[in-house]
Amino acid sequence: MARIVMKFGGTSVGDCDRIKNVARRVKAEVERGNEVAVVVSAMSGVTNQLVDYCKQISPLYDPREYDAVVSTGEQVTIGLLAIALQELGLDARSWCGWQLPVRTDGAHGKARIESIDTTGMLAAMNKGQIAVMAGFQGLGPDSRISTLGRGGSDTSAVALAAALHADRCDIYTDVDGIYTTDPRIVAKARKLDKITYEEMLELASLGAKVLQTRSVEMAMKHRVRVQVLSSFVDMPGTLVCDEDEIVEKELVSGIAYSRDEAKITLVKVADRPGVAAAIFGPLADNNVNVDMIVQNVSEDGKSTDLTFTVGKADLDRAIKVLEDRKTELAYERLVPDSDVVKVSVIGMGMRSHAGVAQKMFQTLAEKGINILVISTSEIKVSVLIAEDYTELALRALHSAYGLDVQ
Ligand code: ADP
Ligand code: ASP
Ligand code: MG
Repeated sequence: MARIVMKFGGTSVGDCDRIKNVARRVKAEVERGNEVAVVVSAMSGVTNQLVDYCKQISPLYDPREYDAVVSTGEQVTIGLLAIALQELGLDARSWCGWQLPVRTDGAHGKARIESIDTTGMLAAMNKGQIAVMAGFQGLGPDSRISTLGRGGSDTSAVALAAALHADRCDIYTDVDGIYTTDPRIVAKARKLDKITYEEMLELASLGAKVLQTRSVEMAMKHRVRVQVLSSFVDMPGTLVCDEDEIVEKELVSGIAYSRDEAKITLVKVADRPGVAAAIFGPLADNNVNVDMIVQNVSEDGKSTDLTFTVGKADLDRAIKVLEDRKTELAYERLVPDSDVVKVSVIGMGMRSHAGVAQKMFQTLAEKGINILVISTSEIKVSVLIAEDYTELALRALHSAYGLDVQ
């Protein structure tokens, strides 16, 4: 008997028929002789609606109350799925995050899981009851409900799998696995049988929303075997696993994009020591994460242009922080641009092969796409380009690296 955590995302529990479909899948897993705990998201669209309600009432809402609101979507689906399982003659019960509890830190709206007390859940599972846990939510140190950031049910599932020492964590979603790039944008995207934790971590953190980044971090740390598969068709998905389980290693294994970036250029900043610290220090103090940075060559030796990216959601805050310090920073103008996208190519093979970045630059040049900012790491190259070119760039790069399905 294997112990399996099954997680179902928003589309998979999008209406009552789909919830019944999920119940049948859970039943089939139980009938294979396995012990099952289930994690579910809110029905698709519900969390967006709840977030929107908060913003309509107050743009600068209290994050603790935001969590009280947005966590409710999952409470509905755990109850409905438990009822659907009971309808199929199975013993099942729902678990809210606070009922276990799933303990998190106090960063409301983007909390991190610190521990999960599985005592009660395990006692129930040992009696043959199926546990249905709400994803995305936990209990903060202030004894109030917390949520884990958008897409957080993936992390709930992997954390539960680690806490239960499960044999596998199956993430059921609306695509049948992890692809070389988003299959909704590139029709020729190829499904991968396996991908390493490291590559998936890069893909996720660079924008591939198929798994929340923290869920991959957690899987890597606790060596949880994660499989991503479809809740609508019966076929094996993609396994996220250790590098030594993968025989054939690709030079480039995937391409990701993120529309969540915005670019800021400070025109004519003084070119002297301490300026970068004076700019990026206050941004960090105000919780604005800066990602890519370029500083142009100074023409007159006195001033230079500095360009960097921040999350789109942080753009207004970043502008305010910089405008409040305009005299002190002595720049001439601030030029914001949110119509940008970050496109990244990722692959373990890059560690030992040169030329991956060059191919990227050349391919984009051939399509007439201008590169605004570049950043690299050991296993990825990212470029910032105008958002209008997203599809064109993804398709061209996908072909250039030989990733197209034959
Ligand atoms: P869920 O609601 O089940 O959590 P998500 O919408 O969060 O589902 O994640 C699934 C989506 O991720 C897919 O519909 C797909 O458009 C997108 N996606 C982005 N990059 C990839 C990729 N490389 N492979 C598969 N799906 C991807
Ligand atoms: N319902 C939450 C969201 O939409 C969590 C999740 O789906 O993973 O972000
Ligand atoms: Mg998701």
